[in-house]
Amino acid sequence: MTSKKLLFILVGLGVLFISLLVFYINNKQEASKEQPMIKKTEQGGQTKNTAEKKPSLVTEQSQPKSQLAKAEASKKSLVICIDPGHQRKADLTTEPVGPGARTEKIKVTGGTTGVSTGKPEYVLNLEASLILGKILKQRGYEVVYTRTTHDVNLSNIQRAEIANQHHADLFIRIHADGSTNRNISGFSILAPSGQNPYTKTTYQDSLWAGQSILAAVKASGETKVNGISYRDDMSGLNWAKVPAILIEMGFMTNPQEDQNLSNGDYLTKLMTEVSDGIDVYTK
Ligand SMILES: [Zn+2]
Repeated sequence: MTSKKLLFILVGLGVLFISLLVFYINNKQEASKEQPMIKKTEQGGQTKNTAEKKPSLVTEQSQPKSQLAKAEASKKSLVICIDPGHQRKADLTTEPVGPGARTEKIKVTGGTTGVSTGKPEYVLNLEASLILGKILKQRGYEVVYTRTTHDVNLSNIQRAEIANQHHADLFIRIHADGSTNRNISGFSILAPSGQNPYTKTTYQDSLWAGQSILAAVKASGETKVNGISYRDDMSGLNWAKVPAILIEMGFMTNPQEDQNLSNGDYLTKLMTEVSDGIDVYTK
């Protein structure tokens, strides 16, 4: 081997060594450069991801949620028709007690009067109805009133027909009781019986509504509850093609109950309980 060849090999090896060294250093630098970069991208990626995911999750969730809420709202826009019983002036002419009936009944009677407050029943009925309607609207129901003033002339048939026209899920008639005996008190519900020829298709639902409301009022323990009276002689119930009940909130001829019913807190609480019963009925 000549010294020229040896030098050439040595130089070649040197170049190889140096290039390997440079390659190694470069790699290491890149690796050390990349690592934090990777970390950064990972971190950044993570935060970015979570940042991206969060709103995307929110939109993913909120979109179906709002659609669901809309669907629920459309499902829940159940119609409750509230009939504040009576009106300022009674109409003592008569109308058939049920579709096709020969028996006639007074179109709209005068109602009772508070023995202690002197308040006419039609005034209390509207007060209670407006409270009930407000609560029901807040809970997502569509509320239809048969009247919002005292100066109307609506027979009991006409009131039932308003509920029919709106395809009400419940026709709820708001009344207060009266008796010649001042000691009688308590909340009760009037509903058609199973033998009522006019309400065969709605009888079960009316009964369920009555039972639900009665249970809710009873559960509060603040109001004496008398139960359900089955009545087939009421034109306002018989002409309804939708589930229908009548609420007797209490006796205005009982001094204490008359006072209670004219107490805003008591009446609001009672109407909240009635709404709770309606919630049970519509579920
Ligand atoms: Zn009445």
